[in-house]
Amino acid sequence: MEHQELTGIFRKLIDANSKFVLTTHVNPDADGLGSELALSRFLGKIGKECVVINHSETPANHRFLDHDNEIRTFVPERDKDLVLGADVLIALDMNNPGRLRSLEKYFLESPATKIIIDHHLEADDFVDYKLIDLDSPATAEIVYRCLAAYDTNLIDKSIAEALYAGLMTDTGSFRFPRTDGEVHRIVGHLLDLGVDPFYVYHNLFEENSLGRTRLLGEMLSTLDLAYDGRVSYASISLEQLKRNNVVPDDVDNFVNQAGAISGVIMTLFFLELDDGVKISFRSKGETPVNELAKLYGGGGHKNASGARLTGVKLGDAVRRVLADASQILTK
Ligand code: 5GP
Ligand code: MN
Repeated sequence: MEHQELTGIFRKLIDANSKFVLTTHVNPDADGLGSELALSRFLGKIGKECVVINHSETPANHRFLDHDNEIRTFVPERDKDLVLGADVLIALDMNNPGRLRSLEKYFLESPATKIIIDHHLEADDFVDYKLIDLDSPATAEIVYRCLAAYDTNLIDKSIAEALYAGLMTDTGSFRFPRTDGEVHRIVGHLLDLGVDPFYVYHNLFEENSLGRTRLLGEMLSTLDLAYDGRVSYASISLEQLKRNNVVPDDVDNFVNQAGAISGVIMTLFFLELDDGVKISFRSKGETPVNELAKLYGGGGHKNASGARLTGVKLGDAVRRVLADASQILTK
């Protein structure tokens, strides 16, 4: 969608309504959380009623973004009437209702006007408006455009910090292919508003537990290659997580460490959960890992995707996905 059309629809929907509920995907990241916090703070400033409700608790290293405890973790008995009674529901950084988990039922049932603001491929049809920009490196960038077009003077430091966190993480600290001059111009504006890059980076990436860093070492020491060194893969078992006192959210960035090897164009990272296996897919260049993720009901971007296999043993998941990877490599 063209920027002007997108920001125009945004303005109309904001002006025509007063009660908003914002949400993001299960296992939220800084882009989902930052986008919803920025939008919520902005809506508050223009006198709208706005609540942020997520299925998942905010991961510990992201809590600094929610310094005023604006985010609720969904409790159906307490919060369902907010979802059912809102004028507008906005799901950020996601395009598939299943990723709402416990909120899905109420989101779909609600008579509210429903919107997604997102940058992922292949959105499902479950909303009235899809404010999607596939060229955007982060949902936070789309939110920035919407807010700046609405009234740029209302973007303050706390809105800027939330947007910066989303932009920084989804661009891999401003290095992924979609990081263009426009991203840096936006970031320039956010820094002018007082955002401290060190503070944001430090909280997100340098406040790890000893257990997490040791677990990273365990993963790296079992990392392996396949397909003549074009694929790297690694896994972490539930036993390793528990022994190191680490929760699944804490291993989000491990996949990138597993791929930083010369000659590797695809990386598979398997994380054993209580009820199955979460798989993270990464690639370099033209290898479309989202097509591999789709085989298991997942999705994402060409170079970064995810999926979950339920009721599957870790070793079986590794063997199955490694075998299926040949379909993508030969494309
Ligand atoms: P990650 O591997 O960091 O969890 O996810 C990488 C990308 O894939 C993100 O853009 C995320 O939105 C997407 N993704 C992760 N898991 C899923 C999933 O289960 N379903 C879909 N549709 N996308 C996913
Ligand atoms: Mn995102």
